Amino acid sequence: MANSSDFYQHLKHELAGIEEAGLFKQERVLGSPQGAHIHTLGADGQRREVINLCANNYLGLSSHPQVLAAAHAALDSHGYGLSSVRFICGTQDVHKTLEARLSAFLGTEDTILYAAAFDANGGLFEPLLSEQDAIISDELNHASIIDGIRLCKAQRWRYRHNDMADLERCLQEAASAGVRHTLVFTDGVFSMDGTIAQLDVMRRLCDQYGALLGVDECHATGFVGASGRGTAQHRGVFGNVDIITGTLGKALGGASGGFTSGRKEVIALLRQRSRPYLFSNTLAPVIAGASIAVLDLLEASTALRDTLADNTRYFRSALLDAGFELPPGEHPIIPVMVGDAVLAQRMAARLLELGVYVVGFFFPVVPRGKARIRVQISAVHSRADLEFAAAAFAQAGRELGILSEGAAA
Ligand SMILES: *Cc1c(COP(=O)(O)O)cnc(C)c1O
Repeated sequence: MANSSDFYQHLKHELAGIEEAGLFKQERVLGSPQGAHIHTLGADGQRREVINLCANNYLGLSSHPQVLAAAHAALDSHGYGLSSVRFICGTQDVHKTLEARLSAFLGTEDTILYAAAFDANGGLFEPLLSEQDAIISDELNHASIIDGIRLCKAQRWRYRHNDMADLERCLQEAASAGVRHTLVFTDGVFSMDGTIAQLDVMRRLCDQYGALLGVDECHATGFVGASGRGTAQHRGVFGNVDIITGTLGKALGGASGGFTSGRKEVIALLRQRSRPYLFSNTLAPVIAGASIAVLDLLEASTALRDTLADNTRYFRSALLDAGFELPPGEHPIIPVMVGDAVLAQRMAARLLELGVYVVGFFFPVVPRGKARIRVQISAVHSRADLEFAAAAFAQAGRELGILSEGAAA
């Protein structure tokens, strides 16, 4: 019989395997708040300031003075924590206010808060759909959507990434199978490429087949669309998506927390049956209070998302001018294609030496041979930051042979 020392031996072996495959994820320790510039802490405790191009801090709100002030105020007025789930004694006025404000921002009837968007997706499908129903999803959807669907008994179809003809095949098959309700669910923006889902086409197809449409807006809420209302606004279907999930942990301040938004019947049933909501502690009031201030900022002005769009255009064209290969796009996620996994890691390491913090992504996170450096632009990057970073990319690209020696500086 296996004993516990065999078990720990087994784990050691698994860890060694991850390391040998070159897939071991090291966590870099920061000694500063999140921002355009951060301090990395070396093993010797030494601080180094670098430009950060790998945070989801799209609007720079992680350290925005008005957001910090609102967090301090909420801490003073509402305390540190609720020590309760929502339905026992974990609901304060700030939670109800935030839910109403998110609904207004997203053009929906009601919103339910979760501890994370991972929980919002994890607890979404099982309460709403059962064996007689169908879920149709994009093959590259986020892990939390995949896990949420696994917990649900509905029949499943998957279409090729962003392939609308293949989505229609799934809708036809589900209809032929005689399912009761069908939900099509997609990431609004796909995190490895910044691809923006074709919600306008998807809405039309869903209407044609009588299906519901749901979207995960984690990489969109606050900055995609003319006033930052998300992918639906960008694609001209604002107010016409059935279910929206999103995070407070990216553009909307970056602390943590998630939500699901939609028709009042959907949200009401989730409050009764969604397990991560029923059996997990309420969102900290500090985050609820600060998130309300975030929505105040975004509703008062589009300045931050406009600066982000300018910064994104500038950095894309600087990298293209330098000779890098970028898939076309407009999202602040900019994949700089390198191809080879080892080269992507060496590129990221060299850029860090040059003062620019980026991360290389490679198989299995992206397809084999499509390794890349994923750049994420923020509204708080100055033009000087972006010029410096573009020059570092060009230098590292030439040194590593990704760019030819004669490429423009
Ligand atoms: C980041 C992300 C999540 C998880 O959000 P958390 O609030 O951090 O749990 C879910 N879906 C997508 C598409 C994401 O990018």
